[in-house]
Amino acid sequence: MRKHRIAAIPGDGIGKEVVAAGVEALTALAALDGGFELEFEHFDWGSDYYKGTGLMMPADGLEKLKPFDAIYFGSVGAPDLPDHITLWGLRLAICQPFDQYANVRPTRILAGIESPLRNAGVGDLDWVIVRENTEGEYAGQGGRSHRGHPEEVATEVAIFTRAGVRRIMRFAFQTAQARPRKFLTVVTKSNAQRNGLVMWDEIAAEVAKEFPDVTWDKMLVDAMTVRMTMKPRSLDTIVATNLHADILSDLAAALAGSMGIAPTANLNPERQFPSMFEPIHGSAFDITGMGIANPIGTFWSGQMMLEHLGEQAAADRLMRAIETVAANKALHTPDLGGNARTADVTAGLIAAL
Ligand code: ATP
Repeated sequence: MRKHRIAAIPGDGIGKEVVAAGVEALTALAALDGGFELEFEHFDWGSDYYKGTGLMMPADGLEKLKPFDAIYFGSVGAPDLPDHITLWGLRLAICQPFDQYANVRPTRILAGIESPLRNAGVGDLDWVIVRENTEGEYAGQGGRSHRGHPEEVATEVAIFTRAGVRRIMRFAFQTAQARPRKFLTVVTKSNAQRNGLVMWDEIAAEVAKEFPDVTWDKMLVDAMTVRMTMKPRSLDTIVATNLHADILSDLAAALAGSMGIAPTANLNPERQFPSMFEPIHGSAFDITGMGIANPIGTFWSGQMMLEHLGEQAAADRLMRAIETVAANKALHTPDLGGNARTADVTAGLIAAL
């Protein structure tokens, strides 16, 4: 029997609730499949751990995670801790050292889910956003001098390396090539960011020559928000920098119906390190502990994890079950306008499996 070892890090807020739901669903799926086993180990890292130890994860946390086949992550962030501490202390502290440079975010309007876009339904919005996940605007370069004084200065330097841009561009062209439309939109802001993003555009044109069967175009990030809302059908695969894709993918999730549905994979495509799978939403303290968090984004992240682990048949089965659940309005949580609870959706998903 094939065995996959998964590190589960629920983190903070609703992360704990949706990862519990995801582990339950994936365990049921593995039992039904019979061909593979998922062995989960839980790590209680995050803001509560920080309040006890002063660290978001232990100093040897990465060593502990390294032997796992994948990481199943919830969310990070607490109302009484600064976001940059929680984010850099756990999520980015895993993504960067594990070189998870390709962040992949599929977005689709599922049958039964209403998009806020007038006249947009199933098939009108079917995108994969590829986000550069290790450098750019979130490289962590910068500093502050003369803190609190009127002459205080702070810098936040965006880093674009030829090697970093090349590998994400290649990954994006490959992603586009594997989809039926073979169409990639390269997001840029090279009119204003005239160094890093001009290089980004040049590298896009170079890499494009390796993929003659992929059609591609370029969009400035501001105009891209307009195209996403006005002409969602005109897009398919999208590649953007760390910051730009961060913003565009939240917009994409909202346009597809809810932040609670969208999944993401932080991939180390060379598989030197474990990759990490998580819903795109945050800790959502407004609904934490109420039992109404939508677990679909976490289920879908689990589907991406199974694909990554080579369990394609189980991944397909899970996706069909997700679609069945989404189409059933009785299983919609309040973010989708329904009254269902996390536990109802999880039970519904397992029944659909
Ligand atoms: P962060 O700052 O880490 O992004 P946040 O709590 O500010 O986190 P999100 O959690 O990303 O923001 O989402 C904003 C709002 O969307 C939440 O406050 C919540 O109301 C809603 N939301 C997000 N995810 C879910 C979900 N899984 N189920 C239901 N509602 C959700």
